[in-house]
Amino acid sequence: SQPIHVIGAGLAGAEAAWQIARAGAPVVLHEMRPVRQTPAHRTGDFAELVCSNSFRADDPQTSAIGMLHREMRGLDSLIMSAADLHKLPAGGALAVDRDGFSRAITERIRACPLIEVVCEEIAGLPPADWDNVIIATGPLTSQALGAAIGALTGERDLAFYDAIAPVVHRESVDMSKAWMQSRYDKAGPGGSGADYINCPLNKEQYYAFVDALNEAEKIEFKTFEETPYFDGCLPIEIMAERGAETLRHGPMKPFGLTNPHEPDVKAYAVVQLRQDNALGTLYNMVGFQTKLKHGAQIAVFRAIPGLERAEFARLGGLHRNTFLNSPKVLDSAFRLRAQPRLRFAGQITGCEGYVESAAIGLVVGRMAAADRSGEAFLPPPATTALGALINHITAGHIETIDAGPSSFQPMNVNFGLFPPLTEPLEKPQGKRLRGPEKAAVKKAALSARALRDFEAWIAALKVPAPA
Ligand code: FAD
Repeated sequence: SQPIHVIGAGLAGAEAAWQIARAGAPVVLHEMRPVRQTPAHRTGDFAELVCSNSFRADDPQTSAIGMLHREMRGLDSLIMSAADLHKLPAGGALAVDRDGFSRAITERIRACPLIEVVCEEIAGLPPADWDNVIIATGPLTSQALGAAIGALTGERDLAFYDAIAPVVHRESVDMSKAWMQSRYDKAGPGGSGADYINCPLNKEQYYAFVDALNEAEKIEFKTFEETPYFDGCLPIEIMAERGAETLRHGPMKPFGLTNPHEPDVKAYAVVQLRQDNALGTLYNMVGFQTKLKHGAQIAVFRAIPGLERAEFARLGGLHRNTFLNSPKVLDSAFRLRAQPRLRFAGQITGCEGYVESAAIGLVVGRMAAADRSGEAFLPPPATTALGALINHITAGHIETIDAGPSSFQPMNVNFGLFPPLTEPLEKPQGKRLRGPEKAAVKKAALSARALRDFEAWIAALKVPAPA
């Protein structure tokens, strides 16, 4: 019977192929390197780390990425076992010897009798008789395949760059300065007329903000990234450079808004934040895509009234990145609605980072294997790190009330993607919790819930014995 075809042997594709073989199904893994390189890879090894050698924090109690590590280890992840085998001293982070790591993965895949490796570029849609395919070609998907996918999804639903505005945790916004209101109280479909968080700036604060943007340190584009400025998503610092008034007439326009804290004072400019996940725990800064260095972003954005203590779930950026508008074009099993024989995995689905990409490869590999053997796949609960990440990609994102272009943006796993706790936090010795102490207790509670739900889920799974 037919093998499952996996295209791309990066973090996601290698993990997916491994999980399929582990479930006892044959796989053909197609990888174009080293014959054809991407602009960032340098070797022919599988799961090459193109930049940093860190898998970030490893502690499941204090970080969502640490919880994801733990869950993946529980599912016999090839990527995590190679990382653990080749780990380097890095404090609380999991850093790896990149060459040893990728070599180990390449060797284990090549030694696996159920995996056939073919070195070739898939330069268009996969042949029509491949009925179970995983496309895991990553942020730098080759041009020919990218074009073919774009033709299937329509141009608007496959992006080649991400223009990311910072995302903040809702609870870190100071609502004694900010307020909820939509411009002109307009309630779009599903909206209430008070859908945005608004942060007001007076004249002095606005000009100081523009100066700070002009002076802040910026990240240079890599040569292969060219300068991808397109309409509607200019970085804010480029807008600021074009003139002191530009932002006030663009994303920071103050019209149609009344500050209930000071109803008689007209704001000179307003920063708006829009709900970013269905849970309402995260808000993105509308129109604030930026190439400022991360440290500079925190300093400059915390000068905005209401955001003095903002905690950022992610900072802004602009990179070359091929990714789907997944909440729209994929179903809950990561199949392309327009052609369900094609599944997607890894960063092309709209997660971000080595570990997240491998995690989605793991789940999608298991889904494809379950499909082939006619079994149902029980997805991990949304309260786990895996489940929260899956939800962000396939369903958790809300379409915004503007009905403008999709605002789906790639994201690392973080506690903001987890459903809020339903029980009140435990107070040590009955003391009232605040600030960092409260945040730590909350993370620990989210982490304990994730662990408990993960264990229950995995106990109910028919986990195949290691291949
Ligand atoms: P990849 O790991 O890129 O794997 C995709 C594979 O598909 C590649 O091997 C490629 O050769 C192959 N391929 C592409 N097209 C075809 C085709 N048509 N036919 C056959 N094979 C094909 N993440 C971090 O966590 N930390 C970082 O510091 C970091 N820095 C980054 C820097 C840059 C410049 C870039 C581009 C990305 C960075 N990332 C970083 C993101 C990280 O690279 C990805 O999250 C991760 O590698 C994605 O895994 P993936 O399997 O989806 O894609």
